[in-house]
Amino acid sequence: LKDASDDMLHIPRKVKNGALFTYVIPSMRAKSRLLAYSPSCMRSLGLDESEAETEAFQKLVVGTNIDVDKCCPWSQCYGGYQFGDWAGQLGDGRVVSLCELTNPETKERYEIQVKGVGRTPYSRFADGKAVVRSSIREYLCCEALYALNIPTTRALAISTLDGVTAMRETVEPCAIVCRMAPSWIRIGTFDLPGVEGRLDTTRKLADYCLDHVLTEDFQGRGIGNRYEQLLRDVAIRNAKCVAKWQVYGFMNGVLNTDNTSILGLSIDFGPFSFMDTYNPSFTPNHDDIFLRYSYQRQPSIIIWNLAKLASALLELIGARDRVDDPQYMENLHSSSELLAEAHEYTLQAFENIAKEFLSIVREDYFQLMTARLGLPDGPTSRKHVIDALDILENHDLDYPNFFSFLTRMKVEKTDSQSSAEQLFDFCAGSFNKNNPRFRNEAVQKFQGWLDAYHQLSTEVPEATRLNNMKSVNPHFTLRNWVLEEVNKKAYEGDYDLFHKVAKMTASPFEDSWGFPKDFEDSYCYGTGPTKSQIQCSCSS
Ligand code: AMP
Ligand code: MG
Ligand code: MG
Repeated sequence: LKDASDDMLHIPRKVKNGALFTYVIPSMRAKSRLLAYSPSCMRSLGLDESEAETEAFQKLVVGTNIDVDKCCPWSQCYGGYQFGDWAGQLGDGRVVSLCELTNPETKERYEIQVKGVGRTPYSRFADGKAVVRSSIREYLCCEALYALNIPTTRALAISTLDGVTAMRETVEPCAIVCRMAPSWIRIGTFDLPGVEGRLDTTRKLADYCLDHVLTEDFQGRGIGNRYEQLLRDVAIRNAKCVAKWQVYGFMNGVLNTDNTSILGLSIDFGPFSFMDTYNPSFTPNHDDIFLRYSYQRQPSIIIWNLAKLASALLELIGARDRVDDPQYMENLHSSSELLAEAHEYTLQAFENIAKEFLSIVREDYFQLMTARLGLPDGPTSRKHVIDALDILENHDLDYPNFFSFLTRMKVEKTDSQSSAEQLFDFCAGSFNKNNPRFRNEAVQKFQGWLDAYHQLSTEVPEATRLNNMKSVNPHFTLRNWVLEEVNKKAYEGDYDLFHKVAKMTASPFEDSWGFPKDFEDSYCYGTGPTKSQIQCSCSS
């Protein structure tokens, strides 16, 4: 690294010989200001919050205190299928991994990286920068998902940069996000050696993942050799994650294979959104004209991505216990019969894994959805979940507010018509609210639903039920219109709203955060046709 020329470190190129990373030193050298750090990330690392005040910390989170005698930062090389098409080599185009940190007590290990630190060999035609708008979105999204107990990559800190701008739709100021995760390996990491037919590299990568990355809570055991078990493990982890996305209405927006983590962590927060008006075919991605990455397709898209992983591992899985027999592996490529048999086997294995994936998604989804209603899980409760969603969908009603109403508003049991009216008013945008025919129809549906709900929920004492519901139904949801307001203020130089929203995001189940009640209410429950269903472009 000491002798590396600037060109070697930073000029975009196709790397050779199947390399999976390149040593890179961040080149962004502007004066930075720490905007925020994540208290929960500090805890995960075993750091005291006072550390964030130190110069060492503030330099670490922008990647400027690198001593190449002590560490060798790197950028990852990966490929990917973008919107279903093979995109070739992608890689960390503006991200550099600095080091790994281990929590001395829990022994949890995190790979620490900085995003927006200049060009790398993987920048392709782009500038290596990250604008404040998308950095704020990523920082807050990580905090939101983590607080909701959804597996996710994390954001340790966000820093603004003095005098650095980038051209997007307009000229925007830049920032650096410091991120952390046990691993940043994605399905796309396997795609590249897979597509290029580098079986040795694929195998090394798979072995590395099995021995170092997927070790905690490995769930792939059972049928097949270790590579089949790897595929099953990655599938199970992702099933658990996507089930929770569906429960909380989280939409990634760009579920390309390079944005699917092998650890089943939420990763890459571009045009993501939390559902407001309940519409299963909504995609938050402005450019997703075929709705490939819409809410309801997320589980099947993950299966599509897993199929790409299966295809990269095809020979390794298909070889079964002959995978360690060099002669067999050699013959595999010259014999179409052996290859066909390996294909056949892998296809079958994948089909079983896909079925298992879907059954986990369904089970986890309904378990948590019935819990969100405070009902014991079972066929009747599950049916009641579906009935509620039908009403929300058919009447353009707000998803988070529906749960907030049941959890946090006084529901009048003796007068279900007035409860139904209140519920409707709480969930309807101003457009529908003022349409009497629409309103009457929805209120009637809600009234029937609420009557049945009260019947179903008699088994558990009300106070207990409401308490349980408060622990799974957030008071605050990081809606897209809130992010837009945060960013509008930030671009005026006012970060006060950002800090308030960051606090609410990090502890979304609180009853109050100490802000004025009308402020809290409007940011927790605010909806409306102009404020909901905002789409974003990919530019960041
Ligand atoms: P994404 O759509 O976020 O998954 O990014 C796709 C690829 O583009 C990844 O390889 C990114 O590293 C790269 N990329 C996106 N934006 C930039 C940028 N401003 N500079 C360099 N690379 C970028
Ligand atoms: Mg990506
Ligand atoms: Mg991205």
